[in-house]
Amino acid sequence: MNTVLLENNENDIVTATELIRQGKVVGVPTETVYGLCADARNEEAVRAVFSAKGRPADNPLIVHLADFSQAELYTSYIPELAYRLAEKFCPGALTMILPKNDIIPLITSGGLDTVGIRVPSHPVMHRIIELSGCPIAAPSANISGLPSPTCAEHVMRDMNGRISAVINGGNSKYGVESTVISFDSENTVRILRPGAVTKEMLSEICNDVIIDPAILNELAEGTKAASPGMKYKHYSPEANVVMVESSLQDFVNFVNRNNGNKVYSLIFDGDEKFFPYNYLTYGSDSHEQAHLIFQRLRELDDIGAEKVYVRAPSTDGVGLAVYNRLIRAAGFEVIKL
Ligand code: AMP
Ligand code: MG
Repeated sequence: MNTVLLENNENDIVTATELIRQGKVVGVPTETVYGLCADARNEEAVRAVFSAKGRPADNPLIVHLADFSQAELYTSYIPELAYRLAEKFCPGALTMILPKNDIIPLITSGGLDTVGIRVPSHPVMHRIIELSGCPIAAPSANISGLPSPTCAEHVMRDMNGRISAVINGGNSKYGVESTVISFDSENTVRILRPGAVTKEMLSEICNDVIIDPAILNELAEGTKAASPGMKYKHYSPEANVVMVESSLQDFVNFVNRNNGNKVYSLIFDGDEKFFPYNYLTYGSDSHEQAHLIFQRLRELDDIGAEKVYVRAPSTDGVGLAVYNRLIRAAGFEVIKL
């Protein structure tokens, strides 16, 4: 299959929309990361998404809508709290898990009786949903297990020959995927995956916000994942990544003892002058780190890193999302000094 690179203009967006209506798969920019778009009601199209990614069939796809009011078309119940959250965070980087109805096929929901609903804010993604009139299933546009794509070039690298087209919409604004929440009760939400909509932001609308333990800790063997994506190795480059929680001085000393030719470190901007070893930097605050993290993980493979020591980020605000992606990239291998 020839994968066409489309531009961010109305003509090309119409072309992409036509492909999606025909049951094809198209890579599209969103404000979180790039997504692989297909009609969520079309089983053949959704099967093509799973196959392009190599995604396990039990890992559900999020369904994207132009407006939260459309959630009523695809779900059987929406708690009042979901409407209040939607007022504040839709459009935006929040995915809410709700009971699905029969219009969403089981293949889309990974066999679950629930569906993740998101209303993206990116103008290209929004226009595609609006023009197609479809609920759009869109997982991140990477090969399953690899770092998520934050620009069209990443999508092309993973998906060239596997999907019909990619729209080039520049770099993703946030750089990490949406915050996924479920409803434990009428007043309590549970964060299943942290993202740009933070615990602190959710707490302004809802007092009871639980952080699912699987965000920071490896699932114990035999435990059922609240979100199937939690149980798979994810976001990993080829290199062996290890997270190091320590002061800058202890980090420098640690790398000094464990240095080698293909050993690289991922450090904060501003720390370079203390660091005489191979390194890449990934920003100086949580927003920059979110924006850069997946690109840096891909770059580490490009330069042939075999071992990567990552200086652990703060877990405040969107930092929790950065920490979560890194600890998963590290397969939960953490060294505390
Ligand atoms: P991605 O498609 O790459 O953005 O990943 C979507 C994430 O949302 C995965 O971790 C899924 O397991 C999770 N997810 C999607 N739908 C559901 C659902 N119905 N219930 C629980 N988690 C979900
Ligand atoms: Mg993904």
